[in-house]
Amino acid sequence: MATNTFAPASIELQTKGWNGLDKKSKIVVVGAGAFGGWTALWLRRAGFAVTLVDAWGAGNSRSSSGDETRVIRSTYGANEFYFDLNVRALELWKEHQQKWNRQIFFNTGVLWMCYDKTISVVDDSIPFARKHKMDYERLSAAELRTRYPAINCDDLDHGWLDPFAGYLKARESTQLVAETFINEGGKFIQALVDPGKNGATAKTGGQPLRADHYIYACGSWLGKLFPEVLGKTITCSKQEVYYFGPPAESSKMFDDLPVWVDADGKDFYYGIPGNANRGFKIGVDRRGKLFDPTSGERTPEPEVLQHARKFIGHRFPGLKNAPIVESRVCPYENSPDGNFIFQQHPEVENVFFIGGGSGHGFKHGPAWGELVVKTLLGD
Ligand SMILES: Cc1cc2nc3c(=O)[nH]c(=O)nc-3n(C[C@H](O)[C@H](O)[C@H](O)COP(=O)(O)OP(=O)(O)OC[C@H]3O[C@@H](n4cnc5c(N)ncnc54)[C@H](O)[C@@H]3O)c2cc1C
Repeated sequence: MATNTFAPASIELQTKGWNGLDKKSKIVVVGAGAFGGWTALWLRRAGFAVTLVDAWGAGNSRSSSGDETRVIRSTYGANEFYFDLNVRALELWKEHQQKWNRQIFFNTGVLWMCYDKTISVVDDSIPFARKHKMDYERLSAAELRTRYPAINCDDLDHGWLDPFAGYLKARESTQLVAETFINEGGKFIQALVDPGKNGATAKTGGQPLRADHYIYACGSWLGKLFPEVLGKTITCSKQEVYYFGPPAESSKMFDDLPVWVDADGKDFYYGIPGNANRGFKIGVDRRGKLFDPTSGERTPEPEVLQHARKFIGHRFPGLKNAPIVESRVCPYENSPDGNFIFQQHPEVENVFFIGGGSGHGFKHGPAWGELVVKTLLGD
């Protein structure tokens, strides 16, 4: 859950539009993660014949969208583009969970734990929060102590609670999006795609995968699949999350905490208490080493785990000796500045790339997919 405040205040979508795109066009979307799945669904809803292809299936364990949960929050510093994208995404998540009759969004709030008087990632978002009537609540250290006795607040100046935020079930919703796509008439194929030289001569199992237009939403794999165009733009790093098991007698106290972000400016820890009953999740947001998302071994780095353990014992003393009940290695699909990428192939008009979620893309999936499709349609 990258918390840095990268990016300009607005984004220029650099596409030339899709010549020849009409309702009879056949479109292939490669990658059924948060970006590809939602894009395929919106394209299908716009009336196109869409085939969604994924090598290991929607929400698989290698993908970035395959973890149990993901944070959803509006705070993006002075960046109104992502604030607004989150507002729309939240609307769409709520709409779809109702349609699916399944709770996907858990409105626990997100608590920012602040060491200094000011914290730009939150403070600079306050005007946008006001505009949308989604105000944050400022809590003094004393108020924090009273409200959240499980948190050691000794080194904190204050906290900010975003009461509209929380977490999403990631893997489950990614699979639901793929199911919805199929139910609404889309075609899904589980197969590895070889994009060929430039993406327009794609093959699966040696057979041509024919379409009028191709969209590659292959997350961490994009840089390797298109080394000439994206090799330097999208890199994959090894990121780790651990699920700790709270003591049985106080599990409810820990599960009921809001999602939290410890903004100490160095390591950026964050966590999802409750975490769909899978343990008290803690993520380490320092960029890990370069990673191969296909063959990389998904075991934790002892040094990263040691950091996380030290931190959790300090911030949540009741979890000092809590065991790890699960852990997960997930790839970040980093763009150079943390911004998402929506780009046409420089030489081939009917090939597009969507990616660069950079540790914060999941929550935006529904709104980002919608925006991508509107842009492709020239809307
Ligand atoms: C540890 C961690 C914590 C994060 N925390 C948050 C958070 O709290 N909030 C948030 O909003 N975001 C968060 N993110 C970021 C978010 O998870 C990603 O931005 C998002 O899931 C990316 O989705 P994607 O569709 O681009 O990629 P993916 O989910 O990786 O999907 C890409 C898909 O492409 C398929 N594929 C690849 N190559 C091929 C091929 N050749 N042929 C066929 N299929 C192929 C893969 O199988 C995969 O399913 C986090 C990420 C990590 C790793």
